[in-house]
Amino acid sequence: MVVYRRTRDRMPAHDEEVEEALEEGMRMKWLSTLKHADGGRLTIERMRLDESGFPQPTGKFDELAADTVVLALGQDCDLSLLKGVPELTVDHGTVQVAEGLATRHQGIFAGGDMVPAERTVTVAVAVGHGKKVARHIDAYLRRTSYEPGVKHAPADFDRLNTWYYSDAPASVRPGLELARRVSTFDEVVQGLDESNALFEARRCRSCGNCFECDNCYGVCPDNAITKPGPGKGFAIDLDYCKGCGSVSPSARPVRWRWCRRSDRSPRG
Ligand SMILES: Cc1cc2nc3c(=O)[nH]c(=O)nc-3n(C[C@H](O)[C@H](O)[C@H](O)COP(=O)(O)OP(=O)(O)OC[C@H]3O[C@@H](n4cnc5c(N)ncnc54)[C@H](O)[C@@H]3O)c2cc1C
Ligand code: SF4
Ligand code: SF4
Repeated sequence: MVVYRRTRDRMPAHDEEVEEALEEGMRMKWLSTLKHADGGRLTIERMRLDESGFPQPTGKFDELAADTVVLALGQDCDLSLLKGVPELTVDHGTVQVAEGLATRHQGIFAGGDMVPAERTVTVAVAVGHGKKVARHIDAYLRRTSYEPGVKHAPADFDRLNTWYYSDAPASVRPGLELARRVSTFDEVVQGLDESNALFEARRCRSCGNCFECDNCYGVCPDNAITKPGPGKGFAIDLDYCKGCGSVSPSARPVRWRWCRRSDRSPRG
């Protein structure tokens, strides 16, 4: 049984998670919170939502029998290793950082869950911080500063040549049947096999980045487009480029600028 202090519409769970739990026989006790646990008996306090939707205690109690209680609580970072480090500012359980994720203590950088974030930190944010902070640490050790490169404009939908892509409906991932879901610890929603993963990837429009489709390389009549190597995109050799603009936007999966002489690189 899940004991939850608010109502379903105020529960931050995905519908499919709740539906799966119900299918598996889970029961929900809404507007309830655990008050006390003692010798297999749980005291549950009934809650009510106030005008702003926050749960408030009612002073009315129920009892439940239980042999195990799993508490689902928020988590804090363990910042004990930072105790006694001078100049570090810790506020509301997070380490304060400046631009470049540098703390006020020279040579100490922080990122991920332990720094304040506009929104909840996720794996993607933490990994991004790792990449960013590595560049700043590298610059710090070289006694320089890291200047991020200029970002190209996002490729919005109007700039995509969608006809270039085949329709690729989302693959349906196999799920474990109910009887095995409730009797084993096997993975419930399974992953994609190789061919399905490759099919899924065909839908990728690369967000406007060159993904080395070779179109411009094949179309240029003067072999002015060169390939610096795998993963390095394409470059235009201006000694050969005559500025014909043959690689028209419609010939490219992503609508780059025309590859005229004035353009330094098809990376945009
Ligand atoms: C239950 C739960 C579910 C989540 N689900 C998702 C999800 O579905 N998708 C998503 O994107 N994010 C999810 N998150 C958030 C995501 O896991 C975190 O935002 C992310 O892992 C933070 O990465 P991090 O590197 O900052 O910290 P962590 O991943 O916590 O890494 C910190 C590391 O430092 C180590 N460490 C701590 N102290 C010391 C010390 N003194 N010396 C050496 N090592 C030390 C720890 O052992 C740990 O390995 C979830 C988080 C939780 C708790
Ligand atoms: S610049 Fe565009 S057309 Fe040229 S290889 Fe990259 S994605 Fe293909
Ligand atoms: S403009 Fe230059 S790079 Fe583009 S197709 Fe013509 S010669 Fe090749």
